[in-house]
Amino acid sequence: MSDRRTFLKTAGLLTAGAAMWHPSQLFARSAGAAKKKAGSKKLELAWEDFQGIMKFTFTISGSSRTTTPIVITRLTWDGYEGYGEAAMPPYLGETQASCHEFYKKVVDNVLPKFDNPFQIEDIMAAVDKITTNNTAAKASIDIALHDLVGNIFGQPWWKIWGFNPKDAPYTCYTIGYDASDDMVNTKITEASWNKIIKVKLGMSEAEDKRMINLIRARDQRPIVIDANQGWKDKYYALDMIHWLAERGVEMIEQPMSKLMLDETAWITERSPLPVMADESCQRIYDIPRLKGAFHGINIKLMKCTGLWEARQMITMAEQNHMKLMVGCMTETSVAISAAAQISPKVIWADLDGNYLLGNDCFDGMKLVDGRITLEDKPGLGLTKKPGIISI
Ligand code: MG
Repeated sequence: MSDRRTFLKTAGLLTAGAAMWHPSQLFARSAGAAKKKAGSKKLELAWEDFQGIMKFTFTISGSSRTTTPIVITRLTWDGYEGYGEAAMPPYLGETQASCHEFYKKVVDNVLPKFDNPFQIEDIMAAVDKITTNNTAAKASIDIALHDLVGNIFGQPWWKIWGFNPKDAPYTCYTIGYDASDDMVNTKITEASWNKIIKVKLGMSEAEDKRMINLIRARDQRPIVIDANQGWKDKYYALDMIHWLAERGVEMIEQPMSKLMLDETAWITERSPLPVMADESCQRIYDIPRLKGAFHGINIKLMKCTGLWEARQMITMAEQNHMKLMVGCMTETSVAISAAAQISPKVIWADLDGNYLLGNDCFDGMKLVDGRITLEDKPGLGLTKKPGIISI
């Protein structure tokens, strides 16, 4: 009898507890909860072109530019909204016009098939099937979906995935090539706030060594190198890597052409520094053939179609004992804040894209002393700056 009484008492408490702690309350929205407006339960997509203006002329092996084409996307559902972004450096072949064409197909053929945004797996599979390429356009849908769903849950994605925000690394800050010593020195000064410098090499030997010598003449911070496929000969590349290792360089990204996997594997086997794949690694299905050719991969949302695939690439790379890095194009805080969500899983983060822009249209991920800081804000933690974009 007393057992039954205890049971009833406990059951009563459980019932009372259940009334107090409904799962939706346990999963309560964190600070700065997303705003819900009145809205239809139809997934609706809007987009707006945005021209990113760079603080410096950006030169990598092969090209130079001062602006970058971007499209900002917005998905709405049931009064919630989420923002996404396609950032498209011209050498990758996507344009604002190709994004518009792509979005029309998303609106006509994909969104009507889904009555809620939670089926990210199925929605992104349908988006991916529209065309073979258009990875930045796809990423802009994926990022908006994650922001939207995170806003509805009232939680950031790093928390939904179970990552520890204390594991988020420092970001590198890129010093691009410049022919003028004065301009390189200006860029070094501009980079003084951060802890790791990234240098774009892959020009001539004299120019590559000039860049490093200029930096080392006044700065002893760790350096990571991105050769952007610029080195043509494996013996030369290995000699350069040894020369760089003696000057406090920590890592080399994409030393040779993305197609020269045998030569890169030869370098990787002998390299005193980790060799990471960037141009060679676009999507998850690239990873198996890169094992052995590189020590690790650089994940970029604009290459891999967004966070859903990026999260899976992390698991696959870890299973293959490959190192991880997260990178970016020149992007606003929308895509940078998305990429920051996976940063606790990587050794190197190259998420300075929004700092290279003079006209960022959102506030998002904050760097504190150069370190990525993941805040407890829903979705991607974005706040639209007033008066820059209209969607
Ligand atoms: Mg790179």
